Amino acid sequence: MSMITDLDRRFVWHPYTQHKTENDAVPISHAKDASMYDEKGNEILDLICSWWTCLHGHSHPELNKALAEQAEKAPHVMFAAFTHEPAVKLASKLAELMPGDLNKVFYSDNGSTAVEVGLKMAYQYWVNKGDTQRTKFIAFDGAYHGDTFGAMAVGKGSGFFTLFNDLLCSVVTTPFVGTWPGDDEIEDREAWALGELETLLHNYDGQIAAIILEPLMQGSAGMNFCRPEFIAQVVELARRANILVIFDEVATGFGRTGTMFACEQSKVVPDIVCLSKGLTAGYMPMSVTVAREEIFDAFLGENFDKALAHGHSFTANPLACAVALRSLQLFEEENTLARIKEINTKHRTFVQRLQDSGLVEYPRALGSIVACNFAADGGYKSSRSIALRDWYLSKGFNIRPIGSTLYLMVPYCITDEQLDSAYDIVIEGLKAVP
Ligand SMILES: *Cc1c(COP(=O)(O)O)cnc(C)c1O
Repeated sequence: MSMITDLDRRFVWHPYTQHKTENDAVPISHAKDASMYDEKGNEILDLICSWWTCLHGHSHPELNKALAEQAEKAPHVMFAAFTHEPAVKLASKLAELMPGDLNKVFYSDNGSTAVEVGLKMAYQYWVNKGDTQRTKFIAFDGAYHGDTFGAMAVGKGSGFFTLFNDLLCSVVTTPFVGTWPGDDEIEDREAWALGELETLLHNYDGQIAAIILEPLMQGSAGMNFCRPEFIAQVVELARRANILVIFDEVATGFGRTGTMFACEQSKVVPDIVCLSKGLTAGYMPMSVTVAREEIFDAFLGENFDKALAHGHSFTANPLACAVALRSLQLFEEENTLARIKEINTKHRTFVQRLQDSGLVEYPRALGSIVACNFAADGGYKSSRSIALRDWYLSKGFNIRPIGSTLYLMVPYCITDEQLDSAYDIVIEGLKAVP
């Protein structure tokens, strides 16, 4: 046993892991571009971007440089009463990229806290306007918004947090409708789901602060894609019911769905947007909650009462901001969105191949993501999903199915040859692991 594995076993508690039954975690010694390397130097092609974060792959020289340069200047700046260049430049760049007047950037540390901040902003927005009755949120069945208490509450439709139900704030859920190529009943299913939402909005009139949703793709639910039209209609209903709209783009942001942000494809401007995962291209934990001007304005007042009582020790960490800013510049310098289009074209050819293979159901592609469903005994960690994960790893590929969904969410630096090898191994694994 290696020294790392020994210490890991004795002192470390891993996330979402059953330590009694699961294999030891693989020690990674270094990572470069689309690959990670274990202690013996074996290559592992990272086809899920290290938990969906490493947009441009691992250890990009320009990002390394931005990080090192900022470390020389100021690694930490407390963010109340002080500010710094990377934070203001990043905020203004995000405001420029976001649609409409989504101009006010609130920094925090991860996707879950970005959601907490969004929920607090929405509730307090109404309170600040004198309306204290809006104590509920609407969320979608299957939605996942993170692991802290507010995020668990709006993610109760994921089924991950049933254990904590009694401790969660009040959330009502509404049906989500996924779609895939060849789905010819989608309009009927959408009409039904929108009808259900309309009923909820009517029944809870005046009690709802906001609706929160993952636009275009429910990630953790198993890469369930929906049509931009569906999102646009949900927003339309929310507007008519006079509630706020929060988009959780923690997973969909930064090119994942083919556009910089998923909201662009629905042509709507939500009131609040949460971003994390790809924000720092996998370098540092950071997130933002971006609000429209009108939301921000509702927090202005002569004393502290109306201010947002939220902040973290590492809010707007300069190292994280510097790297995030450099990552956004790389999108322009490396023409990243065009590369994502090419990746998507290859993905769609693979979707056809999956379809023809008869091995899976609902093959589908969106931006840099390709997914399908396989027969499994259910649950987030179904036995076949774990067997597939271990088999792919033994062949040098990081592919981690969720429940019965097998997916690739590839780093944008991936080469065509690497993509082709990934497609081949996906098919081989599905045949080898019944
Ligand atoms: C991962 C994820 C989160 C939580 O982000 P963390 O950084 O893991 O806390 C929230 N929302 C969505 C849509 C996610 O995919």
